[in-house]
Order: sequence, then structure tokens, then C-alpha cells
Amino acid sequence: MSQAIRLYIPGPINVSADTLNAMQAPMIGHRSKDFQNLYAEIQPQLRELFGTSGQVYLSTSSAWGVMEGSIRNLVAKKVLNCGCGAFSDKWLDVSRRCGKDAEGYLVEWGQPIRAEEIDKRLATGQFDALTLVHNETSTGVLNPLEEIAALKAKYPDVMFIVDSVSGFTTVPLNFDALGIDVLLTGSQKALAMPPGLALFTASAAAHARAETLTDRGYYFDFLEFRANGEKNMTPSTPCISLIYGLRHQLAKIFAEGADNRYTRHARLNALVHDWVRANGFEFFAAEGFRSKALTCVKNNREIDVAKLNGILRQEHGLIIDGGYGKIKGLTFRISNMGDETDASMKEVLTALDASLAQL
Ligand SMILES: *Cc1c(COP(=O)(O)O)cnc(C)c1O
Repeated sequence: MSQAIRLYIPGPINVSADTLNAMQAPMIGHRSKDFQNLYAEIQPQLRELFGTSGQVYLSTSSAWGVMEGSIRNLVAKKVLNCGCGAFSDKWLDVSRRCGKDAEGYLVEWGQPIRAEEIDKRLATGQFDALTLVHNETSTGVLNPLEEIAALKAKYPDVMFIVDSVSGFTTVPLNFDALGIDVLLTGSQKALAMPPGLALFTASAAAHARAETLTDRGYYFDFLEFRANGEKNMTPSTPCISLIYGLRHQLAKIFAEGADNRYTRHARLNALVHDWVRANGFEFFAAEGFRSKALTCVKNNREIDVAKLNGILRQEHGLIIDGGYGKIKGLTFRISNMGDETDASMKEVLTALDASLAQL
């Protein structure tokens, strides 16, 4: 095998060797007692990380499966898709492709979603669901989730669907306290696992809404997840190897302590921020709304990002991200999420210094 390139792109991220090893456990039947035990074993830890007393479901898909599924299960009337970057903007397109009446509340990339703007739109009474991306990975914006979730009390019939694909386990989340309806994430971001597994939880109101919709499909039917979850199973054959990996990652997360994990993410993120300032770069995300999982750097020095990445790969065996979608080249992104350490992030920043000097 060739030497692995270390990934400082914001997903997929580096997967530790011990996690890859943990995935090599022998296969078991997905309707067996062994599988039920595996599923049940990880539920308490997952519930703690999601901040819920309800079930956490395991979907063998990437996050988009559950993002699309949420639309199919929960939108009867019209959905408000809040967009502030590539992933959140795309959700509007996905809603329409699902045949739903959908409207975008789209802000300039780099800016956050504002609760008062959502309030204005929900006040029209047109909407029965909204989508929000907590941590918009393309722009490095961390949206004010608590402020937005507080609107749920005013609009109890609106389903609040939240993607925390790249926020989950980098900052504390409490689904029950937020009072939202769906919280979803994926395996290849801060959970530091290979892609292919999505995790989500849904409120009683979400299940009640799903019961009223007939076009839920099968693969992402929330009611199937609930019924199977009650038996510690999944609707269809799951990615058992990834679930072994998840069990291993959860053990590591709880050995470190969830709070220590959030602190570590903040500290490593601050190291990158210091590097950005020291090198005369600016931040793409508005101040006060910056992600703890990654940094989206504004390329105000107009460096050749592709060339920089080439040097990083050739001489240091690692890559960063050269910007996503319409801000490719105008920005670059450095991930600090997952199993990274002070030492590993310092290595990346030292490599960046050396590579910048060669441009
Ligand atoms: C990566 C990411 C997704 C998409 O995940 P897939 O695994 O490609 O389905 C969605 N939302 C956010 C915020 C992400 O960072």
C-alpha cells in the first residue's frame, strides 16, 4: 500500500488505525441476538451525545439519505430551506426534487442564518417544516442553533430539521433541550470514521407527522426506523463493519470525556485561527459565527491554492481543501475535527508555513 495522505479536508477526515482495525470484527447476522446486543450497547452513548432520551437511528447511507428522507417524511405543506453555503443551499434543490413546495431563505455565503429572518417567514403561516445546517462546512459558519431552535415554541407545528453533520461532537448538542424535530449527522466528519453511516434522532411530533404522509418511501421511512429500533435493529441490512467502528469511536470519545472533546476542538481550532492571523489571511465566516470543526480561510493574499496543496501533498504527505463550489480558490479550508491532537495540528501548520514559503 502506498503511504497514506493525511486528510485535513473537512471530510472524509483521518481515520485512526485502531478504528480501522476495530472494523475488522467478524460478520454477524443483522437479525441475530449478537447484532441486537451491538445496537443496544451503543444506544446509551449515542443518546448522551445527541442529548436525547429517545432512540438514535443508524442509517446505512451518507447524510444526504437522511436529509432527503426528512423532507419526504415531514413536509406536507411547504418547507423553508435556510441556506448559507453549498450544503444548506443544496437542500432547497433536494426538497424540490422530492416534489415538495419549497422556498429558500438564502444568505450571502460567509454570513449566518438569523433567527429573526426565520421568524418573519414562519409568521406567514405557509410553512410546516424548515431545514437548517448547524455547521455549514463549505463556508465554516456555525449557525446560532439555540436562538433558532427557540422559535419552535412559537411555531410548534413547524418541523425543525437540523443537519449537524460537521458540528456533531465538536460542540455540545442537546436535542431534547433544543426541542427540535430531527438532528442528523454522518460518520466521516468529526466522528472520524469512514463514510457510509448516518445517524439521526427524531421527535414524537416528527413521527406523528410522518404518520400523516403517504409518500415516505421505504428506505428512509422514519416509522420503519422507529419500529425496528424498538427491537434494536435497523430496517434493512446495515453497514455492520461501520457500526463496529462506531462502537470503538464511542469508547474513545467517552474515555476522553465529551466535554474534553469539545474543549480540544476549540483549542485546536484556535491554533489554526492564530496561524491565519499570523500569516496575513482573513476568515471567510463572519466573526462570532465561526466553526470549531474547521477553518474556512479567505484567500485575500491570492496565493495559488492548488500549488500550495501540491507541495503539501508531495513534501509533507497531507492535503487541505482548496475551497468548495463557487468559492473554490477564493478560500481554502483546514479541518481540525476528529482525533486530531495539538501535535498533529502543529505539524500541519508547520507544513503550511514551509509550503507557503515555496510558492
Ligand atoms: C459532508 C456534509 C454533508 C453531506 O454528507 P454526505 O456524507 O455527502 O451525504 C451534509 N451536510 C454537511 C454540513 C456536511 O458537512
